[in-house]
Amino acid sequence: MTQHDLTLISATDGAALPQEPFLARHLIDGQWRESADGTVFERHSPAHGVLVTRAALGGIAETEAAIVAARRTFDEGVWPSTSGKDRSTLLLRVAELIDRDRERIALMETLESGKPISQARAEIEGAADLWRYAASLARSLHGDSHNALGSDMLGLVLKEPIGVASIVTPWNFPFLIVSQKLPFALAAGCTAIVKPSELTPATTVILGELLMEAGLPAGVVNIVLGYGQPVGALMTTHGDVDMVSFTGSTAVGKAIVAATSASLKKVSLELGGKNPQVVFADADIDAAADAIVFGIYFNAGECCNSGSRIIVQRDVAEDVTERVIALSRKVPFGDPLHPDTQVGAIISPEHQSKIDSHVKAAAGDGATIRLGGGPLNVNGLNDQFYQPTVLSGVTSDMAVAREEVFGPVLSVLEFSTFDEAITLANDAAYGLSAGVWSENVHTCLEFTRRVRAGTVWTNTWMDGFAELPFGGMKESGLGRELGRYGLEEYLEVKTVQMRIGRTRAPWVHAR
Ligand code: NAD
Repeated sequence: MTQHDLTLISATDGAALPQEPFLARHLIDGQWRESADGTVFERHSPAHGVLVTRAALGGIAETEAAIVAARRTFDEGVWPSTSGKDRSTLLLRVAELIDRDRERIALMETLESGKPISQARAEIEGAADLWRYAASLARSLHGDSHNALGSDMLGLVLKEPIGVASIVTPWNFPFLIVSQKLPFALAAGCTAIVKPSELTPATTVILGELLMEAGLPAGVVNIVLGYGQPVGALMTTHGDVDMVSFTGSTAVGKAIVAATSASLKKVSLELGGKNPQVVFADADIDAAADAIVFGIYFNAGECCNSGSRIIVQRDVAEDVTERVIALSRKVPFGDPLHPDTQVGAIISPEHQSKIDSHVKAAAGDGATIRLGGGPLNVNGLNDQFYQPTVLSGVTSDMAVAREEVFGPVLSVLEFSTFDEAITLANDAAYGLSAGVWSENVHTCLEFTRRVRAGTVWTNTWMDGFAELPFGGMKESGLGRELGRYGLEEYLEVKTVQMRIGRTRAPWVHAR
């Protein structure tokens, strides 16, 4: 495959590359700790191959210690009994510190994940907004009262923090995703153990530093670095943990549900997606083509919300495909440290091979590779990039139309009637998000009602707001994050029935 007609940004002068790696340690009970046996793991920047982080490698001992600290801090009531006002003040202080350290956090995020620096900056800014929004919820937290149960009865519904929350996050949006969970857990009054992905530990550690600086009491948030086994697994099965909040693959999400069934912990899951964008012939095709290109290349396609399936009305399918290909050539791929880069490196060589196997299998299944279809070489950088790739002639029985590719690979399917479009859109195990493009409001509304997805975008793609809940139907997850629903995930409901006066009729009848 030729790549000469793509827009590439070669290695910049490298001034932002670190001379020394970031040293990441566990945060347990307010103390920064190495692992008991001194073991570490390393992260090299996917784009440059430079050592960027050396992290303590957690095991059973560190995970146990973190859980004990979170349990004790919850049971002793330090944080759950802090007023909503004081919790809110602390969360606002954290948001200010995130803003202050935005450059430092964004740089580490870029170095570890390979995402463009401009995008990382925007994500850190968005994360600070989530801390502010959660701060507002901390002050408005309340239950219900029932005053019409009869003159001698008052009913109260109390909202209480669920307890100790284990928070496990993936590598694709490390700082943003921990900020979709942790401030909401803290606003509710929970304590937490957090495990970032082994590929991107640094920015969660920086967040830990900011939490300490903001004055969060020791033991309320504990961070353990390491792999799914044994750290993540123990965090999800331990008897002292009340809830698991996980973002990651559907395969690991299912394993967590199986592992937690013995203790019936609450589980909240944000998992994968195979998200359709349906384009009707009456759509604003220019706007749709631009959004399709954004939806598939944003974060190099390593995105749960990747718009990886477009389903286009037959009359305009070729026109839309041609426009998408023309725009794809203009998107700057290359050095994540360059301010103009819009698509950076792939997270790991293994993941790059997985993307490539999906593309080769699709071609074998009969899809046509219209653009890209192989690894991308960028001058002066590691071989960890993938070409913008467009596949046409995809049908919904092909694996590429059903499985998450998690790369810059777009599948184009075609339809004739509205019903056919809905059938194709819903023909997936996933149900995270979906989009519709049409100038007819009735078409948009009917699509919105009939599509099985947690989020529906009409004539737009991948907007997000702290106020609006996010989560998946079907195998895309359980529960919701963000909005007031995001806070509810971390709350238990307690019903209180209070009799007023001595009016209770005796149950035992006097003989
Ligand atoms: P992953 O499932 O491999 O890993 C996620 C996290 O789980 C990591 O921290 C990992 O160490 C840990 N883990 C692995 N095995 C575990 C186990 N047995 N018990 C507990 N923890 C374990 O996912 P990933 O490759 O890091 O991330 C990509 C996936 O995340 C994609 O499927 C993507 O769609 C999904 N994702 C979903 C959302 C969403 O909001 N729905 C957002 C981002 C990413």
